[in-house]
Amino acid sequence: MARVEVAREAGACFGVERALAMVRGLAKGGDALQTLGPLIHNPSVVQELSDAGVGVIDEPEQATAGSTLVLRTHGVTPEVEERARNAGLVVADATCPFVKKVHKAAERLAAEGYQVLVVGEAGHPEVEGTLGHAAGAQVVGTASDVDALQVGRRVGLVVQTTLAERVLREVVAALVGRCDELRVFDTICDATSKRQEAAAELADHAGVMVVVGGKNSANTTHLYDICAERCARTHHIESADELDAGWFVDAELIGITAGASTPADHIERVRAGIERLVTA
Ligand code: SF4
Repeated sequence: MARVEVAREAGACFGVERALAMVRGLAKGGDALQTLGPLIHNPSVVQELSDAGVGVIDEPEQATAGSTLVLRTHGVTPEVEERARNAGLVVADATCPFVKKVHKAAERLAAEGYQVLVVGEAGHPEVEGTLGHAAGAQVVGTASDVDALQVGRRVGLVVQTTLAERVLREVVAALVGRCDELRVFDTICDATSKRQEAAAELADHAGVMVVVGGKNSANTTHLYDICAERCARTHHIESADELDAGWFVDAELIGITAGASTPADHIERVRAGIERLVTA
């Protein structure tokens, strides 16, 4: 009979589990509650929260005064937080503590007079939030962006938590020799790379891989690509309902992995679903 194995690192990271626990707890209290943007990139979790009465808004001003506004793991600019308080909202801050570290590092570099560069993806909510913590900070996406940059004498870097280490190394290499002092706060969180390594390890041996997570989640899609390179029979699903018995024919080892926005109970449902199908 086929064996089903979950990658040793898979699913919701510390920051996402913490934010989910906070919102589920507040929702039980029955207060008027909304998140600023979807809490995580996982439509079924967003639906579950919506069923529990948790709304999603885009701007603090859209909330009713006196209600609670949850700031998600990506964090926000100080300006957005101030707007929420000015709108008479109770702010529940679910910003991941690792993202808070990025904010603190950016603030410190700006206060010490460094030219602050945020290495990451322009337009990503986390990067946008970080930019607001250091006046004049600029985004650098890749080493080639450094060529077009006016580089000052003293440069300080902070990094988007989910950035690949390789990109940071390339940006640092491109800056060496272009300034007198280069200070780097390596704020990469290893939750992403650990999930990628564990997924690759399992996909190398599995006959079929199932990747669980939102179709709109960049880190889940990346996990899918890593697995598909190693295991031709790789499938990306959002929930156990999408499982198909035909996928598992003749497979000895079925591997499961999941993006950082997939809660543990969703992975468990997929594991149980596969076990039902292969023993039917
Ligand atoms: S990936 Fe890391 S930084 Fe981002 S929410 Fe998860 S634990 Fe926090």
